[in-house]
Amino acid sequence: MSKQWIAILAALLLLTSCGSKPDASPDTAAKTEPPASQPISGGEKPKAAEGASASNQPAPASAKDGKESAPADSVKKQEQQVAKRYTMNPKTYDIVPIDPNGAPKKVVLLTFDDGPKDLEMNKALLETLQKHKAKAIFFLNGYRVKQKPELVKLLASSGQTIGNHSWDHIDLKKEAKEKVNQQIGDVQKAIKELTGKAPVFFRPPFGSGSDDVRAKAKEEGLLFMTWSNGSKDWEMTVKKNSPEQVISNVLSQLHPGSNILMHELPWTVEALDKLLTQLEEKGYGFVDPEEIETTS
Ligand SMILES: [Zn+2]
Repeated sequence: MSKQWIAILAALLLLTSCGSKPDASPDTAAKTEPPASQPISGGEKPKAAEGASASNQPAPASAKDGKESAPADSVKKQEQQVAKRYTMNPKTYDIVPIDPNGAPKKVVLLTFDDGPKDLEMNKALLETLQKHKAKAIFFLNGYRVKQKPELVKLLASSGQTIGNHSWDHIDLKKEAKEKVNQQIGDVQKAIKELTGKAPVFFRPPFGSGSDDVRAKAKEEGLLFMTWSNGSKDWEMTVKKNSPEQVISNVLSQLHPGSNILMHELPWTVEALDKLLTQLEEKGYGFVDPEEIETTS
């Protein structure tokens, strides 16, 4: 091939890749809202694509889910395969290296439940996570997904992982099987329609599960989890200006593999930068949810 042809091809490649770049602005935002009380789980995320350039494909947003007509502006993610280096202890919900010598043990998993609620909070959370090169699972409720689809796309396109937190945030343990299936299944569908990808992590509201809940999660390919380090940020409704309390609650329960439960709440958003800084100072890293094995 002549040099000329190569130059023309290169120019074309560049053009198409620029045009299709998803607006992956990692903003921040985390938000408010008291979750009910208890432990839970997640989804899968695209790894931060660094070194951008001609690697973004112009492909149509959901080439891979053939049948669902892809949403026009579906989040087009660069699905880079991330090596699975971690697994979850099914009893404690801690995150541990699959191979003790294959990955650092001193890590935490960051999770934010009950969103998506508010653009400013989401942007703030994303900004802080990006600053610390951290990834988290955002466990979303279906009714909020329906209200704020644009926030779901923002989170997904920012490289964060979306998890299933049921549709209505009700206590699934008290519900009949049919209702449980709908509460979990409808969220899978809604998120897949918006992002092109169904979640692979599930956390029941209030950490309240049952055999039916676990069976449905398994059927949907979801890793069921509660948490192992509750920030108790949901107990702060009377002390709304207590980011320090969020930090001390997490640090007092800190241990390798901590599965940290937080929420989209103003004081948590405010606490996050300092919390992540302190975790780093203590030698902790942040597990990319994509690195967690979700199938057993
Ligand atoms: Zn919740």
